Amino acid sequence: MDSDLREAWDRLSDEIRACRKCPLGELRTHAVVYRGGLTPRVLFIGEAPGTDEDRTGIPFVGRSGRELDRAVSALALAEEEFGVLNLLKCRPPGNRFDRSAARTCRPYLDRQLELLRPDVIVTLGARALAAIDATALPMLSAAGRPRTIRGTPHFPLIHPAAALRSRRLRQRWERDVRVLGRWLGERLA
Ligand code: URA
Repeated sequence: MDSDLREAWDRLSDEIRACRKCPLGELRTHAVVYRGGLTPRVLFIGEAPGTDEDRTGIPFVGRSGRELDRAVSALALAEEEFGVLNLLKCRPPGNRFDRSAARTCRPYLDRQLELLRPDVIVTLGARALAAIDATALPMLSAAGRPRTIRGTPHFPLIHPAAALRSRRLRQRWERDVRVLGRWLGERLA
């Protein structure tokens, strides 16, 4: 592990944990920075921490996290080969996405991307899709169809929480995860 990368990452993570730039900083229990290796091949980007993430400080540890972890094990990615983070680092009250907080928080995501330099980005849900690809088609048209954005291949998935909401969306989630597996197989071989 590159010690400069580790140092820069730790500095950025401390900055995020101390952030009070928007009102969410006053409401959180923990800022939720990242889980995964520091040189991930695949980076999953979600929306915002929920109750379980706020309590633990770790992204995707609740019900949608278990769904995501099932997908990751189907993709046969090793522990250090992937990472998970969110657009928003602090939980919005009532889990309602806060656009203004997202604008304030955006530079943290950009700095995380600069340090992590993933081979591939996988967005989870419509907010993350829009944040990475401003000209993307609507979620259900974009999901499962990779495009390269500013030099980095990007594969959109629906949010794993959607797979828990209906049979139709579960089938869509599972189908797109299989497509992702084949696509990664070709890209990362
Ligand atoms: N949903 C998200 O988008 N992120 C999390 O960390 C948990 C649930």
